[in-house]
Amino acid sequence: KQGLSKTRDQFVGKVEEILTGRRKIDDELYEELEEVLIRSDVGVNTSLELVERLRKEVKKRKLQEAEELREVLQELMADLLGTEEAMNFAEQGPSIFLVVGVNGVGKTTTIGKLAHYFRTDGKKVILAAGDTFRAAAIDQLEVWGQRAEVEVIKQKEGADPAAVAYDALQAAKSRGADLVIMDTAGRLHNKVNLMEELRKVKRVIEREVPGAPHEVLLVLDATTGQNALQQAKLFQEVAGVTGIVLTKLDGTAKGGVVLGIQGEINIPVKWIGVGEGMEDLRPFNPQDFAGALFD
Ligand code: GDP
Repeated sequence: KQGLSKTRDQFVGKVEEILTGRRKIDDELYEELEEVLIRSDVGVNTSLELVERLRKEVKKRKLQEAEELREVLQELMADLLGTEEAMNFAEQGPSIFLVVGVNGVGKTTTIGKLAHYFRTDGKKVILAAGDTFRAAAIDQLEVWGQRAEVEVIKQKEGADPAAVAYDALQAAKSRGADLVIMDTAGRLHNKVNLMEELRKVKRVIEREVPGAPHEVLLVLDATTGQNALQQAKLFQEVAGVTGIVLTKLDGTAKGGVVLGIQGEINIPVKWIGVGEGMEDLRPFNPQDFAGALFD
């Protein structure tokens, strides 16, 4: 069920409250809907747009009863979320995924889950411990590497992340790996430093593997709602993000943020995290997501 029960109960629960009870469609109803959407972290612009589109559909289909809006709203949400976006892989040689995000969002866990997912899929995976700022981050990645049964390339705490990237790419070439997943530092105290560091790592990747990185995945914590949106805007600027992993959807009623991200930033959500275990990562399917919400 995609771990969406809290979002379904609270967000959609409130929508349902508005739509049931033999109500007629009127301005007050639209306003209530708008408010629920905004409160559910869908984002102001996206909420207004959704309700605007809803009004148009109601006119077009000549609807009168509030209960008829349920299906239209589900359609509009699915439409906003678009179609499932596949991951990009190298046509030949190793594919390189760079994983970025602020500390605590679930970046290490997500890398472990991705390693497991693709290893189970038959790929030879290598992890690169590029968050050299924290010794704990390197250790934690090693633990995930053991769990997922994939090799982890690392250096000491304080090492140059670009050097770790270089090592990992050499290892990938010599071992014939299919996929390298690279961790990066997640401290945001200094935007300029972060940008410099990511740029340097990217330069090494681009030089060593033409066409890489094939994905720059931004990990966002769904429980942080609007903060996640702000982080997305920042990383889009500094890292050229190609896809989003939205974690901790299992523990939150803020699943509406998926709609906000899709509506306000043009980066597809490609994966969702729905738990702490190795299997708790799902490719994001917009239709299923919208369907699960209104189940
Ligand atoms: P990092 O600092 O970004 O590398 O974050 P971690 O990977 O260490 O994760 C931080 C915490 O979030 C850990 O306790 C994880 O178990 C937890 N976590 C990560 N992803 C999920 C998820 O999808 N659902 C839940 N419930 N917890 C998660």
